Amino acid sequence: MNDLRREFLKIVTQVRMHLEYQRALGINAIEMRISAPVCSVKKAAPYHETAAQIGANLNAPAVLSQSAGLTAVREELGNCLRCKLHKSRKNIVFGEGNSSAVIVFVGEGPGYEEDQQGRPFVGAAGQLLTDIIVKGMKLKREEVYICNIVKCRPPNNRNPEPDEIEACEPFLIKQLQAIKPKTIVALGNVAVKTLLKTGEKITTLRGTWKKYQNIPLMPTFHPAYLLRNPKDKALVWKDIQQVMAEMEKVQKG
Ligand code: URA
Repeated sequence: MNDLRREFLKIVTQVRMHLEYQRALGINAIEMRISAPVCSVKKAAPYHETAAQIGANLNAPAVLSQSAGLTAVREELGNCLRCKLHKSRKNIVFGEGNSSAVIVFVGEGPGYEEDQQGRPFVGAAGQLLTDIIVKGMKLKREEVYICNIVKCRPPNNRNPEPDEIEACEPFLIKQLQAIKPKTIVALGNVAVKTLLKTGEKITTLRGTWKKYQNIPLMPTFHPAYLLRNPKDKALVWKDIQQVMAEMEKVQKG
């Protein structure tokens, strides 16, 4: 084998390893640009950066492609030990889907099944969310991005506590900065309260457009709530129809 061929095979192997790593992080698409300008890599923010400071940059011009941006956030999260949830988790559930999704769904935190698999919304509530996306919105699950307020399962599926949310929120903000969605759907009280910094309940907020860092945000009920209160599925469907109308508006442009 000559040197050129050896070098070529080395590069192919490195690219393949990189793509497999990205897929393991839930990143299923890569952005490709012909003659892309040299990409300047933004220095990772120090961990003590506050949510408000990070949020202020949400509409700043992109310096990394969405996919590379998400990879950088995942790398910064690392084997996170920042809050007590790390003690009982099996897997970090970072999020998954299209790194340049137009729409991001934000839930509360992983449950048992999500913790086992390291993937968001794969249990019973996840099946309902998938039905909403696939059967209702006629989208593929891989076309959207799905993540949570906290990335590790709270024991016994209790609500995440304020210190846990505070430790994890910077990573959600950075995920949203990387993806730059056109619409966010906040699922349930914890997601809505965290993203909107409001004490108002989901029952009053749902179905009315809000803004998160200038991105339209639709609060709606959590799929787990719908499993317990199936009669409210009709309300969520109304909210999702508003979301679909907004997406169509964005696409027309
Ligand atoms: N509930 C959530 O809020 N998130 C998940 O990933 C699963 C269930």
